[in-house]
Amino acid sequence: MKYFLFLNHPKGEKIYKLSEKREYILREYFKSVNTIDMSLKIEGKVYDCVVDYTVFSNLANFDCFNCQDPCYADNPSIYSNETRNLILNNLELYNMLTKNIEILNENEYSFEEIINHIKTSPLMVPEETVEEEISLCTCSFKPNNKSTLCSIHSICLKNNMSAEEIISSKPLVCNLWPLDIIAEDDLSKLYITLPDDFTTGFTIEDYYDTPCINKELAKSSTFRRKNPEGFHEKDYVPILIAYKETLIHIFGEEFYEKIKENLLKENLLYPEDFQEYKEQIFRNI
Ligand code: SF4
Ligand code: SF4
Repeated sequence: MKYFLFLNHPKGEKIYKLSEKREYILREYFKSVNTIDMSLKIEGKVYDCVVDYTVFSNLANFDCFNCQDPCYADNPSIYSNETRNLILNNLELYNMLTKNIEILNENEYSFEEIINHIKTSPLMVPEETVEEEISLCTCSFKPNNKSTLCSIHSICLKNNMSAEEIISSKPLVCNLWPLDIIAEDDLSKLYITLPDDFTTGFTIEDYYDTPCINKELAKSSTFRRKNPEGFHEKDYVPILIAYKETLIHIFGEEFYEKIKENLLKENLLYPEDFQEYKEQIFRNI
């Protein structure tokens, strides 16, 4: 099996292939939980999907502006033409946020070479500078000494782009993170879930280290020592609500409505949970 969202990872199979042990845990898990079978169109292709829908009632608080454990340590995907074009059309802002053009300039790359790398290099910068001089993910930036954010997302917001445009400008894995999609090797079936206490044995991300989906971690003294601000208990909301726009744009309205209907029917969510909420995608610094 493969981690579907990492199929385009620059390190290839080493990252996206599941071990036999993880595959076994996943299959046992999916035999034991209630799921919905759906046909979903993802980035233009239709897949048969098994949706572990109850995880969409799990609480999430994407307080990236106060996060000392940013999930941007490396590049999760080879960049698409949409991302490259957005950056080429917003070079000044991209450089103001990331400093990437200045850094490469200081490292003796000419402007023409830098542009050429944005157009053609897998990670938009010379290979020898990936996660070195250009530390963390190429597109990450630090608005201050506290947090790390995504320049693609910030450029989109500064340009007043719609949710749909933001989503198509960013790698799929980043839009959906930390949701996980695991695929059969031939992609004949996809399994959609989220890291939590029960799934963390096979998901690519570790639930126990991920404050935005682990309220108990955020409340712990160890976490508070590093993050005295943010991640307030009251800001955790069901991930179905936090990611409403994202889920609708990536999987379709029917996906969102079907999950909502099932969670309401099973009393895992209540109508009052769906009160007005500023969704993650439109949050800004
Ligand atoms: S770990 Fe969660 S809260 Fe922190 S930067 Fe990543 S998505 Fe945001
Ligand atoms: S969200 Fe942006 S900064 Fe973070 S890993 Fe994805 S592309 Fe990089």
